[in-house]
Amino acid sequence: MKIGFIGLGNMGAGMAANLAKAGHAVTAFDIAPAALERAVAAGCSATNTAAAAVQGADAVITMLPAGTHVRQVWTDDVIPNAAPGALIIDCSTIDVDSARHVTAAAIAAGLRAADAPVSGGIMAADAGTLAFMVGCADADFAEVEAALKPMARAVVHAGGAGSGQAAKICNNMVLGISMLGVCEAFALAERLGLDPERFFQIATQSSGQCWSLSTYCPWPGPVPSAPSNRNYEGGFLTALMLKDLKLAQEAAAKSGAATPMGAQAEALYALFDRLGYGGKDFSAVLQLMRGKLAEL
Ligand code: NAD
Repeated sequence: MKIGFIGLGNMGAGMAANLAKAGHAVTAFDIAPAALERAVAAGCSATNTAAAAVQGADAVITMLPAGTHVRQVWTDDVIPNAAPGALIIDCSTIDVDSARHVTAAAIAAGLRAADAPVSGGIMAADAGTLAFMVGCADADFAEVEAALKPMARAVVHAGGAGSGQAAKICNNMVLGISMLGVCEAFALAERLGLDPERFFQIATQSSGQCWSLSTYCPWPGPVPSAPSNRNYEGGFLTALMLKDLKLAQEAAAKSGAATPMGAQAEALYALFDRLGYGGKDFSAVLQLMRGKLAEL
């Protein structure tokens, strides 16, 4: 398959490399020359314009920072240059409105389009183990799945256009809220003189059990692979969690959904980010709850 790939940053670099490794002819474009050089070293061919990456491609994938970039690249470069019937997939995390706007414009121009944001960070992008949540027409899903497969451990059809972004922000709102709940519980357990490791053993076998506790424990020790054991370096950055919580609040305001816990989570992560911890894993918010930011 001939694939145009636009946006070769932290995530896109590994994703494009995995497509090339799977035998696809990947034509890559990024406004940053260093990103393009990395893509060439990983087996892609580089172009000087986004239009050239799109022309003649069976599928085009974009992996860009935010909704404004996706609107601009799809409107100016992708839609006017894509071959009739080409499959256009945006894997960035963006607002639902922008996703629906660009996919509708692409479909109106005779293309096929999907929003397919990912769960999993840079390591999963490099390893080809991302989970994709796809919004597209039923008839297009099999082909979207085939295009994404070399980068994926799972590709799930969430529904029509915009549903992938909706699923992503709803999931990450649960994650943000549950992490804050787990951190508060550890902070309280500590104040009550309860051994945190014993609390972990009890709660993981009780109704407090959840992914934020059992798999990604913010208290160092019980889960060796969790970022809490490496001073909260790497993992899922606070700044990215804040981005997703903001998107969730924006969508809640527009749709009229009541999400008071999501609003609290956004406010707490905004504070943590403002205090200078946007580059730490989001589970580091435990130290804010404990009043021990100096330990970070
Ligand atoms: P990044 O900033 O590292 O990469 C974005 C790339 O897009 C950069 O290389 C930039 O030069 C390029 N770019 C910007 N405008 C462009 C344009 N007009 N034309 C061509 N290239 C352009 O970001 P990232 O970490 O790779 O994240 C990409 C997306 O994936 C974001 O929406 C992010 O929220 C989402 N995401 C990131 C992670 C993560 O852990 N980093 C995890 C899940 C989802």
